[in-house]
Amino acid sequence: MVVAVPPFFSSLSPRVRPSALSRRNQLSFNKTSSLSLFLPFGLYHTEFREFFPFGLKQRAHGPVISAKKSSKGSKQDSEMYKHTIDLPKTTFGMRANSIVREPEIQKFWEDNDVFKRVAEKNTGETFILHDGPPYANGKLHMGHALNKILKDIINRYKLLQNYKVQFIPGWDCHGLPIELKVLQSMDQAARKDLTPLTLRELAAKFAKETVDVQMKSFKRYGVWADWSDPYLTLFPEYEAAQIEVFGQMATKGYIYRGRKPVHWSPSSHTALAEAELEYPDGHVSKSIYAIFKMVSTSSISHDVLKEFLSNLCLAIWTTTPWTIPANAAVAVNPGLVYAVAEVHSVIEDTSSSLGKRTKLRSILKNEEKKPFIIIASDLVPALESKWGVKLVIKKTFLGAALENCRYLHPLDGKECPVVMGGDYINTESGTGLVHTAPGHGLEDYMTGLKYGLSILSPVDDSGNFTEEAGQFNGLNVLGDGNVAVVKYLDDNMLLILEEPYKHKYPYDWRTKKPTIFRATEQWFASVVGFRQAAMDAINMVNWIPPQAENRINAMTASRSDWCISRQRIWGVPIPVFYHVDTKEPLITEETISHIKAIISKKGSDAWWYMSNEELLPEKFRSNASKYQKGTDTMDVWFDSGSSWAAVLGKREGLSLPADLYLEGTDQHRGWFQSSLLTSVATTGKPPYSCVVTHGFVLDEKGLKMSKSLGNVVDPEIIISGGLNIKDEPSYGADVLRLWVSSVDYTGDVLIGPQILRQMSDVYRKFRGTLRYLLSNLHDWNPGNSIAYDDLPKIDQHAMFQLENVVKIVEDCYDKYQFYKIFQILQRFAIVDLSNFYFDIAKDRLYVGGSGSFTRRSCQTVLAAHFFSIIRMIAPIMPHLAEDAWQNLPFEHVLDNGSVARSVFDLRWSDLNERWLSMPASDADFWTSILELRNEVNKVLEVARGEKLIGSSLEAKVYLHTSDAATNSRLQEMCGAMHEADSLHRIFITSQVEVLRCLDEVSQTVQYNGSYISQANIEIWIGVSLADGLKCERCWNYSSNVGMFSEHPTLCSRCFTVIGDIQPLKASAQVC
Ligand SMILES: [Zn+2]
Repeated sequence: MVVAVPPFFSSLSPRVRPSALSRRNQLSFNKTSSLSLFLPFGLYHTEFREFFPFGLKQRAHGPVISAKKSSKGSKQDSEMYKHTIDLPKTTFGMRANSIVREPEIQKFWEDNDVFKRVAEKNTGETFILHDGPPYANGKLHMGHALNKILKDIINRYKLLQNYKVQFIPGWDCHGLPIELKVLQSMDQAARKDLTPLTLRELAAKFAKETVDVQMKSFKRYGVWADWSDPYLTLFPEYEAAQIEVFGQMATKGYIYRGRKPVHWSPSSHTALAEAELEYPDGHVSKSIYAIFKMVSTSSISHDVLKEFLSNLCLAIWTTTPWTIPANAAVAVNPGLVYAVAEVHSVIEDTSSSLGKRTKLRSILKNEEKKPFIIIASDLVPALESKWGVKLVIKKTFLGAALENCRYLHPLDGKECPVVMGGDYINTESGTGLVHTAPGHGLEDYMTGLKYGLSILSPVDDSGNFTEEAGQFNGLNVLGDGNVAVVKYLDDNMLLILEEPYKHKYPYDWRTKKPTIFRATEQWFASVVGFRQAAMDAINMVNWIPPQAENRINAMTASRSDWCISRQRIWGVPIPVFYHVDTKEPLITEETISHIKAIISKKGSDAWWYMSNEELLPEKFRSNASKYQKGTDTMDVWFDSGSSWAAVLGKREGLSLPADLYLEGTDQHRGWFQSSLLTSVATTGKPPYSCVVTHGFVLDEKGLKMSKSLGNVVDPEIIISGGLNIKDEPSYGADVLRLWVSSVDYTGDVLIGPQILRQMSDVYRKFRGTLRYLLSNLHDWNPGNSIAYDDLPKIDQHAMFQLENVVKIVEDCYDKYQFYKIFQILQRFAIVDLSNFYFDIAKDRLYVGGSGSFTRRSCQTVLAAHFFSIIRMIAPIMPHLAEDAWQNLPFEHVLDNGSVARSVFDLRWSDLNERWLSMPASDADFWTSILELRNEVNKVLEVARGEKLIGSSLEAKVYLHTSDAATNSRLQEMCGAMHEADSLHRIFITSQVEVLRCLDEVSQTVQYNGSYISQANIEIWIGVSLADGLKCERCWNYSSNVGMFSEHPTLCSRCFTVIGDIQPLKASAQVC
């Protein structure tokens, strides 16, 4: 870094040689770089002022300030030249006033049908982002806002890219939560009289009302969609398409009815899908170790076991004792080593609490002979200590030997077999022997199928034991039923130990109550039947971020058959009839297609109000009385999972696969997967070609938002403000959208008051940038453009930088990496524009002369920036872009000859190769000039601090370097062809002199320093007071001031400029 050396003595004592001092400091110059230009984003704190939104506080603003000083001392002189100064002017306000302005802009879009008009006019390919339907239940939250705004950013960008964009918003309208809301809103008496049709009517009303509320919010976010024609999963045509998908799957043999354990929620009386479960922390089960008495050995194990058989038991462990009545077998792992262990009491240890817990000792006390227990050999030490007994191993053998041994069912005394299970049997916990109840667990069920075990499930919909459970009939399996089973085992000397066990246990995500595994008659989609096709389809899709592919792969590979039936009213019926006597389901292509036709006209209510005769096709009608309508509805994931068929497959102009699905990461288990499964099962292909996933929205500290923590951020409040406007100001939709663009959504994202304040600052910077551009184009006419080749070098360099930014931003949009765009544009606006180009340009723009080349060339650059920047920000901050566009002081004519009324009439143009073509050596040179300017500013800052100068225009800068090439380039820049390229304009000082020899001035220049450039060249910088007098008009100092008798207070530049301007009559009189 430069260290500019202030004089140790006052400026009246020039005897100390500052350059000598500066050498003393040179060590610290060695690692010179323009660090301050590359501060991390977010560290900039810039003051905003009316027309100098970015200028350094103490920069020279001579002409403007002089023009504004109308009431003080030099009034007459200032007034005299005021009209010759081109002050910025615009109707585009610095304040967004988003509460008023954004709705106005949205109305403008709506009134002019801008989205549809632009999409239709576009000549490129179609772009279809298929909307994942939010659930029509309750208000929107930050997750919804993140999701829909991301979609809107993409759609708007694609519009600018000339795509025919179609975006049909959707809502998921069926299902239990809405059904429950309706039920909860009624009293007992009303509920009693409730018919399915009334319930469905109320549920539909609730869903539609919620859709309206949510739609209003989405619109307020500035999201563009076909709001007049959304898709709702309750629309008859949607339901019919869903029935069609179901029918196609049934025809292909992928739908079956089976008795199979499913996740069952006793609290909501229905089967649940994987996606409807949650696993809260802190669940504790009652786990037990129990023994089942062996009664016979198999032929293989006979020799090994016969001597123990009279008192031999199998030890099992379970966390669900209530499943013991449904026990059908004990499973072992054929590859594990098992042991017969003799159980001995240990000497009573009074200090041990184990003695009280374990029941095995009481069993031992009552036994004349020591009992023998079969357990996994590896677990012997652990179980000894847990049970508080001594286990003496008598024999060991492989689990395979136990197959077909028999034991007595602990409750009904029937003989049950020992069977071979799979790898799920291990020695991580338990005993290595698994109590198997095929009606209550999936692995047990699979094992049961293999051995033809009965699938007992003596539990009803409410989770109470049925008559089949004998003495436990009526007890609740999650409560007193569980306790009663444990007590029974204890009373019968079959319980070894009971202990609490903390583990992950599935809960109903809506009622927050534990679920059970329970075998019921359900309809299934056989994932097994098309799993490989689904895995192949996953491989064809572009997953963003890429790790999402592993996630959905693993989930699809491991998922069991999909239970698609629900025992609820508010949904699409499973279109099936059952034979009254045989209970055989009737489901054929004919029945499905008949029902589909009815539903497409009348909606699925018809299933409830129409008779069997009407619902059955002609050929079954005479036998209608022999059939009964099914009462199950479909899993809502089947509803939304059919949207590709119901929307993309049916609506005009849409097609499959969708270009993009974009949802939260939880949808790998949910919608992404259900859509994939239904699509692959019926068409063999994935419904999408690209899938983007985003994370969850957390608070600023990374905590989950919750009402109890009080950290919920409401998108509505971000936009319109809260009750306390000081703590919760109204930021408007664009600040919310800017936040969406700023986060790396591929992981979880944070939001809170601090982050929003930062976003608001950044928003103002962008607004200030646009305002600077508009206000200096107030007299612009596109016909005044200067050809690129004629532009000063500084302008060509500005175009080069601009087009590079456009290039990178376009690439980031294409890759959906918006947070990079946010960073690049923020840096560009602050570092390249406000701190540099805009800062320098003020002199040219304000005092260069209205029609002068220097002003016109600068305006050419500004106009190019305006068009590019507004395009780059429009997808993210459409209101800001439109607001700026509506304040454009000239008409912009499109290629087709029409005038662009909306900013979205613009198109993203091809990259300008000419602008990008600046030779690398020139670009490097400009980088070094920027670096030099930065170092010059530091020396100026010191001179200012020491009160040598006020404004930088009071200064003259001296440069010296012993590097001949650099010296000569600097010399050239002092005498540049275009004044805009000259160094003193770039430094905003009045003069710059490049010294051939340092001795020339080093004694008289009080403020100096040197630095080593990135090109490793040492450059010396000195600052002194500028030569000559201050020009009244432009505040630059010049030796020419005083030379023009008509205008004795002007410099030669200003003298020339005003020569071209007719003085105003009023001011002429003042003269
Ligand atoms: Zn001047």
